[in-house]
Amino acid sequence: MLTAEIIAIGSELLTPEKVDTNSLWLTGKLNEIGIEVKLKIVVGDDELRLEETIRDALKRSDIVISTGGLGPTEDDITRKISAKAIDRELVYHTEIEADLRERFRKWGREMPEINKRQAFVIDGAEILPNPNGSAVGMCVEFASKIFVILPGPPRENKPMFENFILPKLREMAGEIYVKRKMLKVSGLGESAVDEAVAPIYTAYENVQTSILFNKSEIEVHLMAQAKTETEAESVLDELAGKIAEKLGIAVFSTNGEAMEEVVGQLLAGRGKTLSIAESCTGGLIGERLTDVAGSSKYFIEGAVTYANDAKIRTLNVPKEVIEANGAVSAPTAEAMAKGIRDRSGTDFAISVTGIAGPDGGTEEKPVGTVFIGYADAKQVKSKKFILPGDRYLVRWRASSAALDYLRRQILKNDE
Ligand code: ATP
Ligand code: MG
Repeated sequence: MLTAEIIAIGSELLTPEKVDTNSLWLTGKLNEIGIEVKLKIVVGDDELRLEETIRDALKRSDIVISTGGLGPTEDDITRKISAKAIDRELVYHTEIEADLRERFRKWGREMPEINKRQAFVIDGAEILPNPNGSAVGMCVEFASKIFVILPGPPRENKPMFENFILPKLREMAGEIYVKRKMLKVSGLGESAVDEAVAPIYTAYENVQTSILFNKSEIEVHLMAQAKTETEAESVLDELAGKIAEKLGIAVFSTNGEAMEEVVGQLLAGRGKTLSIAESCTGGLIGERLTDVAGSSKYFIEGAVTYANDAKIRTLNVPKEVIEANGAVSAPTAEAMAKGIRDRSGTDFAISVTGIAGPDGGTEEKPVGTVFIGYADAKQVKSKKFILPGDRYLVRWRASSAALDYLRRQILKNDE
């Protein structure tokens, strides 16, 4: 596999305000054609450091791509330093200067003399035209290496890369196609997922598998390389299918959908409706559900009943239930779910009551104790969770646990 390295040039990229996004975009494009980015560097407008960076990069990597610093001003040093780093001269091109003059004339301006600098190109480099700006790009090929020098602004370097560099690199990389797929898993830990699926994915040499934990769910990332796009896709589908079969209902998405989208699709597909009663999540579940376009089809009502009084008044939770069991309890969660369902007349209802912390925990009910209630036409029930994390995470995980509980119930009802 060919290796690439990206150098983002410009002191402004070393300030807290500006992010190097060029390298993210370039990495995506390179990965698609089976080229792996091994290193990315951000270097300021510093001649010595830039020269050293370019020299080192060309020793290490087959392909080196730089962006930025091709402007006409004194601090735009890329042209000069790149030439120096590969021991080549800069050559003046009259036709580039003529182009520049013409560009300025079209804007009704005279070309400032400093822009002449942009007519210098590294000896032997291919010139990459820039219809969207004044700086031309360069591509230097030598030995088996390729050094690509692109301007900084994305609207200038993207078309330049796609039109002139990508086809060349695709040829260099040979027929390799890279495809990705992600499965999302709920209710299982990272190691449990890995233990279950490692025997499956390790048998696939051409697929890179990584398992990541993301707030409340596990992501299984698959990246396949193959000689054709179809082959890469079918290998991915096959492996994803085996993993999904092994993990069963814990897999809630094989196309990257969020939990709230999956729940929405399940409801919409069955023509069912939902209402929710939230305490410790304070409306988070309602927000997540309504983030999905088209959620008005199935989401009818959500109540944020934070105080005991509100639970009694709005959801008809019997006072005695709260007095006997506490607001954070299975009976209260169940009464909340039943209450909002009775009130709204939906097919399903879920509720959440818990202790988000940092205060309010007891020995019996520590911070992170959450009860999720569920009600449909046939039953009312609940489940207790102990969720780790700070206030933000407990609330987020409680919202995911509630949506997941509903998802599993809907699927169970199908059986
Ligand atoms: P110009 O001729 O416009 O000066 P240049 O090649 O000299 O182009 P820079 O001056 O380094 O490029 O950057 C110009 C602008 O391009 C920056 O202000 C910034 O908005 C954008 N830019 C530069 N580098 C990056 C990067 N790595 N990621 C995202 N944007 C960038
Ligand atoms: Mg500039």
